Amino acid sequence: QKAEWAKLVNEQTTTSDSQHVELAANIGTPQDVQGVLENGAEGVGLYRTEFLYMGRDQLPTEEEQFKAYKEVLEKMEGKPVVIRTLDIGGDKELPYLDLPKEMNPFLGFRAIRLCLEQQDIFRTQLRALLRASVHGNLKIMFPMIATLVEFRAAKNVLLEEKEKLAKANVDVSENIELGIMVEIPSTAVLSDRFAKEVDFFSIGTNDLIQYTMAADRMNERVSYLYQPYNPAILRLVQMVINAAHKEGKWVGMCGEMAGDPIAIPILLGLGLDEFSMSATSVLPARSQLSKLSKTEAAKHIDTILNMDTAEEVVQFVNENF
Ligand code: PEP
Ligand code: MG
Repeated sequence: QKAEWAKLVNEQTTTSDSQHVELAANIGTPQDVQGVLENGAEGVGLYRTEFLYMGRDQLPTEEEQFKAYKEVLEKMEGKPVVIRTLDIGGDKELPYLDLPKEMNPFLGFRAIRLCLEQQDIFRTQLRALLRASVHGNLKIMFPMIATLVEFRAAKNVLLEEKEKLAKANVDVSENIELGIMVEIPSTAVLSDRFAKEVDFFSIGTNDLIQYTMAADRMNERVSYLYQPYNPAILRLVQMVINAAHKEGKWVGMCGEMAGDPIAIPILLGLGLDEFSMSATSVLPARSQLSKLSKTEAAKHIDTILNMDTAEEVVQFVNENF
């Protein structure tokens, strides 16, 4: 199997009926890019920038961030790189921000909520990203967007920083796509509205599942409810993909589910455009996809989405793909 996968390193990802999907990788630091390239990923689908802020005692400077983003963009040589703005809070804490303890950190002051309030932190990161944009194919993504008002506010801050840089004669790419994570059910439900204003979606199933099922992704005792194949989750994913495609936008997925061999045939049938996963899953996923027909997978979608339980879905996938 390893030998078969190795042959696919320099190949595109093509299904048995000649459809192309994009296989990208998730990274946490510039050092991870080596693994992305070795495993033949077609891009970076999620760069979690939190790690730049963690394990230290003060915020990273604009210059430090600029260097990290530039390094990733350059090493990826023009392939798409989706960089997510700061998603701190929840399970990831920053002691030096001195934020009050919360009863429900996963439902609390985190990610874009924090960035919109502590705008100095957000603006520094956006400037670093904008300056780095001329060094590759950068796409910017906001995490934990719950409302259109938040998205518009965050976009405005980005445009303001871009304007300031332009006035200072700093080069910024004119082709930066701007997207959001779809990881809160309200955003999935209103994805038709969001689709008119964003350039792309990336579905964050790690959080979307926990928020939809009301089951903490870290709590073992409720892990039985953490169900990627629950038809409720699959219907939300379908809604998001259809809403985006109606507006001519693309949809990725960067939660664990994107690299899951049980989920892959369903996601293919639903029309997902980009699958972003840990680098080591890329070649197995490419091999699996090369043996699947997108047309055939699409024919099973109605049946799957009309099932009652996750268990039925798993059994169906095992028997039919
Ligand atoms: C997600 O929620 O699916 C995701 C990719 O983000 P994170 O795991 O960093 O919360
Ligand atoms: Mg998330």
